[in-house]
Amino acid sequence: MHKIFLITALISFVILLNPNISFAENSPYSNLKGKLIMLDPGHGGDDSGAIRHGVKESLLNLAAAVNLKKYLELLGANVVMTRDTDKAVSLNARYDAIDKIKPDLFISLHHNDAADAFYQKPDFKNYTEVYFSSLYDGNAANIISGLGFYEVFQKLYKVGMVKLKPGYFKVIRNKKVPSILMEPFFMGEETLVKKAASPSYSRHESLVYLKAIANYFNKMETQDAALKKQLAGIQPIEKLTEETFDVFLSSSTNESFLKIAEELLKANKIKAVTNSDNFLDNKNISSHYISKLMIIKEHLESDLFPSYIEAIRSNSVAAKIHVSLSFSVSRPSAIYAYYKSDNGKKLSTAICERLKAAGVQTELKPDSFYILSSTSAVTVAVNINPEDINLDDKHNILGINMAVYSAVKKYLSK
Ligand SMILES: [Zn+2]
Repeated sequence: MHKIFLITALISFVILLNPNISFAENSPYSNLKGKLIMLDPGHGGDDSGAIRHGVKESLLNLAAAVNLKKYLELLGANVVMTRDTDKAVSLNARYDAIDKIKPDLFISLHHNDAADAFYQKPDFKNYTEVYFSSLYDGNAANIISGLGFYEVFQKLYKVGMVKLKPGYFKVIRNKKVPSILMEPFFMGEETLVKKAASPSYSRHESLVYLKAIANYFNKMETQDAALKKQLAGIQPIEKLTEETFDVFLSSSTNESFLKIAEELLKANKIKAVTNSDNFLDNKNISSHYISKLMIIKEHLESDLFPSYIEAIRSNSVAAKIHVSLSFSVSRPSAIYAYYKSDNGKKLSTAICERLKAAGVQTELKPDSFYILSSTSAVTVAVNINPEDINLDDKHNILGINMAVYSAVKKYLSK
């Protein structure tokens, strides 16, 4: 009786809170019954994650996970948590627990750090990030889980755009378990951060998670037989080493920039390949990643998915250097290099100095982004925020190209 009362209460509450979430008969929630779901509230204890306006990320993560556990259990799922109090748990312990428990789905709950001043600007457009495990071994579940979460957050979670990305974070590297890492919003704007710390906001967030989880299991069971068949047909990674390129330039956002850069490099006998033309048909890019990415792109608006990321990290073109360029208003002007790479630091420092001479101020950001974690190439990601320099002026485009080109040339000649 007690349980029936709670479910009724939950259903009334959910309908009250959000008319888009319905528990009507034949509801998609029936598929949660008997599923084993592992929730991983990020950080905890001394490691608070982001802190903004007096609000700790670790506590937001925990509150969302605790609510979500209750809702899932009421609907018949079994839930395991990596922590259910405000205590520190190492990434290794979280990762090892996944292997032991072998859940049907693993979800790491976070809220994005907005430590950079850029994310605190009043005109910054907040957005949601959905990361699915990029370690693909023929199991469609990871990609379908990413799509399942993407669809629901896009519909019901209204802080801004939702971006679906392959992730390489420690806790989502288990190949056997479909794994998601969520960053519902950047903890920048004071009103939003303070609102997010309220119990009602947290419940709303948990309910969106609940719907996303149900959507995933529903997709796995019914809707995506065709997708699963497509994914099963993907060939394993083929390492293509016919030719070694000195530089692989990539950009999803500015083709004229790449064409100039390619000409500059070729004129000086620096072998270069770019993604400017028919990137997805380029025979030098691993067919494994192409197939995987094309399938995802079919499900998304084309500009949402940065198709080049996988090719860069896997270094399937066997380049010595990868320079990845973007011209995004949603990030600050900055140069990112893998935090453990001395060569990455050298190259990014050289690019930074030359860009400064060309009139573009960029910050150096040693980081551990997935895109930078190639083990066989020096990888540097450059973002120029179009608000910092007029990109309609051809001189500026040429200036940025010359800066990158001369830094690359110096790096290769030493
Ligand atoms: Zn976090």
